[in-house]
Amino acid sequence: MRVLVTGGAGYIGSHAVRELINEGHSVTVLDDLSKGHEEAVDPRATLIRGSTANADLLRQRLHADQIEAVMHFAANIEVGESVLDPARYYRNNFVNTLTLLEAMVSAGVKRLVFSSTAAVYGNPEERPIDELHRSHPINPYGRTKMMAELAIEDFCHAYGMSATILRYFNVAGASSDATIGEDHEPESHLIPRILRAARDDSEVKIFGTDYDTADGTCIRDYVHVVDLAQAHVLALGQLREGACQVYNIGSENGFSVREVIAACQRVVGKKLKVIEDLRRPGDPSVLVASSRRIREDLGWRARYPEIRTIVQHAWHWHSTHPLGYRGKIDLVPQENSY
Ligand code: UDP
Repeated sequence: MRVLVTGGAGYIGSHAVRELINEGHSVTVLDDLSKGHEEAVDPRATLIRGSTANADLLRQRLHADQIEAVMHFAANIEVGESVLDPARYYRNNFVNTLTLLEAMVSAGVKRLVFSSTAAVYGNPEERPIDELHRSHPINPYGRTKMMAELAIEDFCHAYGMSATILRYFNVAGASSDATIGEDHEPESHLIPRILRAARDDSEVKIFGTDYDTADGTCIRDYVHVVDLAQAHVLALGQLREGACQVYNIGSENGFSVREVIAACQRVVGKKLKVIEDLRRPGDPSVLVASSRRIREDLGWRARYPEIRTIVQHAWHWHSTHPLGYRGKIDLVPQENSY
């Protein structure tokens, strides 16, 4: 299929682009490079620098590249920032999704895979969380993604579009060859922050040690970015005509912050300096997915279900790319180098 991938220069989008091309699809990436990295885009894809706010550009690319399906990753993803600057989030995550949907209708492109989040559930009332769990997001980020989901559902019913919405839990890891990986600035996610601390010999902060969990720290469900990327390709191949399907993606295993730090210490082979800090506002204590629906409906299986492998791949990326895409170092000593 000819696929337009918005946000294909970002962390998850770039892994999806690679998986799509490996499966024989041809890909046009649309990315404004505000957060994404040109170097992350597979050289076999066509990269267009532009925004999903640009309706003319969208229509033009959908026609010119004879696009048959869209994967929509382009979004702002920081919960804290969404509280401080909701306008940016409502515009980029909701209004621009609407612009994209309208461009798709006008160009007759009817297939969509959409990047959503467990943040649409808000504070979980049940564990694990399945797709029937009440959607009650507690921050603007989650609300803008929920609004985009609702628009997509209505577009499917009204205009015969077929869509799959994937609600991600905690995504981590990097490609197994460490050529693409996570490079956010600022970085707020736990695993890359621990690995950066390991690399720079700085401190890891635990945000809250008084949660209602066995060791007092928050529990999350970590899924490997390559497994998530493959779920997108699988979803694309199994869209149901005129239907809007929703799937959680997680490993269905919960790890506490302390357990993740321990897993990282084992991988990097050293003890880290850990500081117990205050709770981060808005963090639910436990978020664990039920991914049963995507396993049963689409036959999705995680290739890298172990936290150890997720951390190993992330460490390979971070230790060889101390400056992210701005600089790679070769850790293998060269012969005759001294
Ligand atoms: N966390 C932490 N220290 C950090 C970063 C995160 O203790 O430096 C905690 C955070 O409070 C949450 C968990 O790790 O309980 C996962 O946070 P992350 O930002 O990776 O993902 P989220 O679940 O918020 O999407």
